[in-house]
Amino acid sequence: MSRKAGSLQTTDRRSADGLERTAGGRQGWEPGVGSRKPHGLAAAVVYWAMLVAGCGTAEHTSPQAAGTPAVRPSILLVTLDTTRADSIGPEAIGIQTPSFNALAARGVRFRQAYATVPETLPSHVSMMTGVYPASHAVHENGRSLSATQPVVADRLRQAGYRTAAFVSSFTLARRFGLARGFETYDDTLPAGAAERASRDTTDSALAYLSQPSAQPLFLWVHYFDPHYPYTPPEPFRSQFSKTPYLGEVAAMDAQLARLVAAFEQRAQGPIAMVIVGDHGEGLGDHGEALHGNLLYQSTMHVPLIVLGPGVTPGVRDAPVSTRRVFHTLLDWAGVPAPLSLRRAEPEVVVGEAMKPFLEYGWQPQVMTVDGRHKSILAGRVEIYDVSADPAEARDLSANDSLRPAVPRALRDYPVPSPATSRPPENLDEHARRSLASLGYVSATATPEVRKGAPRPADMVALFDVIEKASGLFVAEEYARAIPLLGRILAADPFNLDAALRLATAHSSLGHEAKAIEMFKKAAAISPKSPDVGVYLALHLARSRQWEQAVPLLEAVVAESPDRLPAVEALASIRERQGRMDEAVALRRRVYALRAPTRAELAGLGELEMGLGRTAPAMDAFERARALDPGRFTHDLELGLLYLDARQFTEARDALDRVPQSHPEFPMALFKRAQVSVLLNEPDRAARIARARQRADATTRELIAREKLFQPSPNPESRR
Ligand SMILES: [Zn+2]
Repeated sequence: MSRKAGSLQTTDRRSADGLERTAGGRQGWEPGVGSRKPHGLAAAVVYWAMLVAGCGTAEHTSPQAAGTPAVRPSILLVTLDTTRADSIGPEAIGIQTPSFNALAARGVRFRQAYATVPETLPSHVSMMTGVYPASHAVHENGRSLSATQPVVADRLRQAGYRTAAFVSSFTLARRFGLARGFETYDDTLPAGAAERASRDTTDSALAYLSQPSAQPLFLWVHYFDPHYPYTPPEPFRSQFSKTPYLGEVAAMDAQLARLVAAFEQRAQGPIAMVIVGDHGEGLGDHGEALHGNLLYQSTMHVPLIVLGPGVTPGVRDAPVSTRRVFHTLLDWAGVPAPLSLRRAEPEVVVGEAMKPFLEYGWQPQVMTVDGRHKSILAGRVEIYDVSADPAEARDLSANDSLRPAVPRALRDYPVPSPATSRPPENLDEHARRSLASLGYVSATATPEVRKGAPRPADMVALFDVIEKASGLFVAEEYARAIPLLGRILAADPFNLDAALRLATAHSSLGHEAKAIEMFKKAAAISPKSPDVGVYLALHLARSRQWEQAVPLLEAVVAESPDRLPAVEALASIRERQGRMDEAVALRRRVYALRAPTRAELAGLGELEMGLGRTAPAMDAFERARALDPGRFTHDLELGLLYLDARQFTEARDALDRVPQSHPEFPMALFKRAQVSVLLNEPDRAARIARARQRADATTRELIAREKLFQPSPNPESRR
């Protein structure tokens, strides 16, 4: 299901150009303007085939003709997170960036380069896939790239490159799908942290570079320092005490020099490099402190340098999209790529910021840059001359007209459906908290899409409140979250997320009447929302109104079997009702949807044991033990199960691990003595004696009755 940006009318599965767009749709969406734009389905398919299969046509010059040497270059891609175009380079204000400037002097510096999305993961996905989010379907952090979308590392590896990546933020962790094609993907972060400093990332990359190889290398290094919070190391902390954001950029620039020097020294063959920002930072421009919610230059305009074979040094002012990094890298590897930045043909650049739409139902936002004109569609169209007015202070929409193709590109841009763009339910607690620590918290509910929804640019006063409220809610600090959520709902009365979070916060604090009032409000905002049913059912379960909760939860689970909170709630109700068979089946479903913790697996083992199922219980306990052997506390249970299964050596090992401090240590000694007899161990008599000596009320009686411990009148008879 897709919509068009120009209106909020839901369109049919087929949009106007005949291209079916579904979540994860892989048609190479391109704006309907500029040169050589295909029209109709057949042309689009051919165009796409060119992008992915690399079957060049006559009009796309062969790489050799464009200057690729017979030996393919080793390629260094450096992505600079959260780096504004005006914070780095020879024209930067308030900062010197000598490493970046030196590279700029050797290559082409694009003065009008644009991210596709002002957020880390989707922007990087565009650089690695060569397409806009309308095609790769990753519109926000915390989502995953489809395993079928072609990625540049995979293509380069197939073309004979050694491939390695070193990233510095949890937002680019392996699980989100960008590791595909990299033989080495180092996403190691310091314990308990969601990011690492460029110095540490550079150290790891340099260690990798010291391994000799005859193959050309594709090395991607991602630096995250300028991302909030701004805490530059010395000497930059002191030098930039008034502008710590720039201090982070300066610290990163220093590491860039180390990295480039090592790469040039160690990599095989000629050298090519791309240095590019993934998005900028608001720093208060247009009311935005950070990034992700708006499409202004502060967050969309990024630094970009391309240098290497076939690139004539200089400065280019034609707008380009950073998704062309993909095409440029393939071009150097000898794979024909029509959008390579080595031939910077003009294009109509497109960008999007769908987060406020997907999370709160505010207006979807699309932008184009065509020459010096930038247009933003978000409820209405704004037009700026970014050459004369880079601050975008004068909206020209009243008296300036665009080439007719530009409004069409804005309106035809496919808007994703909030329902299919939800974060996966199975994002585990660690992932959720790591993303939250970086300021990325998803809404709890699919928003109500409505006409007349607020424009994000008119809601800037709420960005900070929403971020704080989300952080407090995820940290379960409900009492502190409630006043902030109240402010959001007052300013944006149709905000389903705020209403449901308020209801849930009140419910968690036992404010029954307030919770019910908020659930009614949420239902009024979005009468058909399945989310309201889920959260109301969770509230009823929390307040032990199981009779009412169960049918609601069952309906949700029947409708969407992977709706994790509902399955979990139903499981725990069944457990409390003593319906253990059902509880266990539901728990197993939960753990198939997300990774269980050690304690959860141990709990599952206990339930299975209670049902008398030896093998599944052993399996659950062993999985719990494998997760963290040092903190596993169910060795006694495991010993009993192995004994029951007549796996005596496993029983012996498990019982040997039971510590003396265990409250049922006498039982462990008794069982261990049994195992000793069954294994015919030489010290079995001593073990029986010890079990007797340490016996408690329970085991004393069991030991007295234990036939294995009776002295045999004839030792031969027990054969
Ligand atoms: Zn980023």
